[in-house]
Amino acid sequence: MIPTRSSISDEFKWKLRDIYASDSDWEADFTRVKGELSGLVGMRGTLGKGAENLLSCLRLRDEISIIVGRLYSYAHMKSHEDMADPVYQSLSSRATTLSVEAGAAASFITPEMIAIPDDTLNRFTDSANEGEAGGSFNDYRFTIREIIRRKAHILSEPEEALLAASGDMATAPDTAFSMLTNADMKFPTIKDEDGKSVELTEERYMKLVSSGCRDVRRSAFEALYETYKKNNNTLGATFGGMLKASRFYAGARRYGSDLEAELNGPNIPISVYSNLIATIEDNLSPLHRYMALRKRVLGLHELHMYDIYNPLVENPYRDIPWRTAKEMTIEALAPLGPDYMAAFTKGMESGWIDVYANKGKRGGAYSWGSYGTHPYILLNYDGELSDVMTLAHEMGHSMHSHYSTSNQPYPTSEYTIFCAEVASTTNEELMLDFMLSRAEGERRIYLLNQRLERIRATVYRQTMFASFERDVHERAQRGENTTASELGKLWHELNVRYFGPEMTVDDLIGYEWSRVPHFYNPFYVYQYATGYSAAASLARQITADGAPARERYIKFLSSGGSDYPIELLKAAGVDMSQKRPILDVIDLFTGTLNEMESLILKG
Ligand SMILES: [Zn+2]
Repeated sequence: MIPTRSSISDEFKWKLRDIYASDSDWEADFTRVKGELSGLVGMRGTLGKGAENLLSCLRLRDEISIIVGRLYSYAHMKSHEDMADPVYQSLSSRATTLSVEAGAAASFITPEMIAIPDDTLNRFTDSANEGEAGGSFNDYRFTIREIIRRKAHILSEPEEALLAASGDMATAPDTAFSMLTNADMKFPTIKDEDGKSVELTEERYMKLVSSGCRDVRRSAFEALYETYKKNNNTLGATFGGMLKASRFYAGARRYGSDLEAELNGPNIPISVYSNLIATIEDNLSPLHRYMALRKRVLGLHELHMYDIYNPLVENPYRDIPWRTAKEMTIEALAPLGPDYMAAFTKGMESGWIDVYANKGKRGGAYSWGSYGTHPYILLNYDGELSDVMTLAHEMGHSMHSHYSTSNQPYPTSEYTIFCAEVASTTNEELMLDFMLSRAEGERRIYLLNQRLERIRATVYRQTMFASFERDVHERAQRGENTTASELGKLWHELNVRYFGPEMTVDDLIGYEWSRVPHFYNPFYVYQYATGYSAAASLARQITADGAPARERYIKFLSSGGSDYPIELLKAAGVDMSQKRPILDVIDLFTGTLNEMESLILKG
């Protein structure tokens, strides 16, 4: 039974009143910011005329943006407490409209700044530093450096207007994909472990394909991919539309390739991307060995694509009370030092976290917040080991926000996605290390298997996705065949290569590419693999080197978005343009596999 929200004690709920003590305070801010929008619009056409103008415009934009962020996050988090509550549905949609309006009101700023010659921009920042503009451009140095860097790919005003107007059309392939796969596609009914009929859905698939019963795994796999196979032509068309949109924008903005266009946002060198793929593809043999071990432990004559997800030993971690989960994370993350842990513990005890599920509450988990307020975490804690890992993960994001908003001015407080998953995964790695340090026998084998699965799913699998994306976008750019059947062939070959000779690669896996929603957000998934590699390396450095490594790490968290991700990570102690961090994660995988082999073969 899921409890009602009012029956849950306040100590397990987040304190959104730290943002607004009452809804009328929210209304007051809403009215205030609405009024300020016209002031911002009134600055249109003045930015090139003097440093003073530019500085006060950027300041007003940020002031508005901070309040809009606060209004938006408060309204949405309130509505996530009970999705059916019409009061906060209404507040959420008003906040969404307001944020669109604020975006529109500020839309002249970037084009106007781009129109200012580099010399003038540099002179503005220099003169302002001498105090002439009644303030300092220091907080905006990075913003201005970014404007200058991106100039080459910004078009004339009418061209930009056309591109902006094309945006809705360009998302049509993604929308059609979501509608088809979430609403229209129906999967067959299969038998579960108890012989009961269950209608397959994407949400139920993972549990069914991880079943200890092979018939259940196989029928889930076949039912899922037979359904994708039936929709292959349509899914080929939506994927093709995504490729065309990606090509259109990369070409219009004069990028050499789709990949270059996507990586230019956070200024990630292409070499980081190709280095990841090359290093992983040169080191696939540990994954092949892992598949051989699975085949042997499961006692299978043939290892199939539906024999990957079932755990090799029973889950020995069940019903972990919330208090134990907190104690575990506090002990496990202790290597991050007293400063981190003091803020961490205080956060957990002072209303950052909404712990349990209640009727109407949003599912899943996230960390969120806005500048000037503490971070918030939504959980649906249910006592599983994965729930404890989720707590460590989301607290990683929240602590990143805590450090970055406490140390950075607003313009450089936001960190990139490339860095975000490093902070969360470092915590998960430290959790696993800690648990392994005190686990023996079956528990140890279970945790080792968890680590292998994490690296397989996050590093190997996402790199395979990244490799596929690069290949397919290049083919499209060369005008070569990217029909559904060609994509299926390519995907099948990749699976043969990645899983190695012990795997019987089923024909149906050739439809898996058509199922991945992330492909509609091109060149995104590689960040899971780089993020994991960086995190694994940093966690190891923090454990092995102590104070100097954790000081570098805290500095990284405190840096927010004040420099490019690759530079920030380099300073933290991991250079993602080099092979080393990728090789380290492969070593971690190999070491884990060696131990698991010897424990299992001994046992
Ligand atoms: Zn995350």
